[in-house]
Amino acid sequence: MRKKIVAGNWKMNLTLAQGEQLINDILQAGLTLKEGQEVVVATPFPYLLKAKALLKNYPGFYVAAQNCHSEKSGAYTGEVSAEMLQSIGVDYVILGHSERREYFQESNAMLAKKIDQALANGLKPIFCCGEPLEVRQAETQNAYVAKQLEESLYHLTAEQLKQVVIAYEPIWAIGTGLTASAAQAQDMHAFIRSQIANKFGREAGLHISVLYGGSAKPGNAAELFSCPDVDGGLIGGASLVAADFVSIIEKLS
Ligand code: PEP
Repeated sequence: MRKKIVAGNWKMNLTLAQGEQLINDILQAGLTLKEGQEVVVATPFPYLLKAKALLKNYPGFYVAAQNCHSEKSGAYTGEVSAEMLQSIGVDYVILGHSERREYFQESNAMLAKKIDQALANGLKPIFCCGEPLEVRQAETQNAYVAKQLEESLYHLTAEQLKQVVIAYEPIWAIGTGLTASAAQAQDMHAFIRSQIANKFGREAGLHISVLYGGSAKPGNAAELFSCPDVDGGLIGGASLVAADFVSIIEKLS
């Protein structure tokens, strides 16, 4: 009943020609997505229109931005609004990635405003949450993630929440080669789902897709995706290599 998604986060990588090649290579693999399965490609802003055009005739393939601004419009030189993204047909927007939280000081409160902008403009947020290593070592990761959810999502209505996808990305596993074990991922995903159910109702908990992110690769995707509360993945490094990304998508069940 809930969507299974593999989303590739290109971050600040690739030229336009390289990105085009990557998308064409992914499409050439001839993937047949099952009902309810989606592939999302989160490109840098300048490539979104091109990516959208390349994926136009491929049902189940969508485009995501990696960020949007928290205000509707105005004097914010260099920034991109949710309305702009909507105007070029973008489907999803990644919000709250740990790199943005760390390097651009994005707080839970600011992310609540970004979520509002995204939803007001018909974009589906992929909301990232996840704990740093010291929090995991202190075994306080549940409280940490609960606070992220509460401060950025709990002001929404249950209807609005239906548009939101959550990505659990333990920071210690992002780009490090360290992956959360399937048991660690399952525990946290079940916890996130229970938190959502407590706040928004049982249906909302059952409906929301929760993706895993953090050094997911062809070799561990099958085990991670087989966990009952893991609905796919947000993939960084491995999304830049067509064969790896395709292989991860093929692990969706
Ligand atoms: C990410 O940046 O969202 C991510 C999961 O990166 P990686 O797969 O490279 O760990």
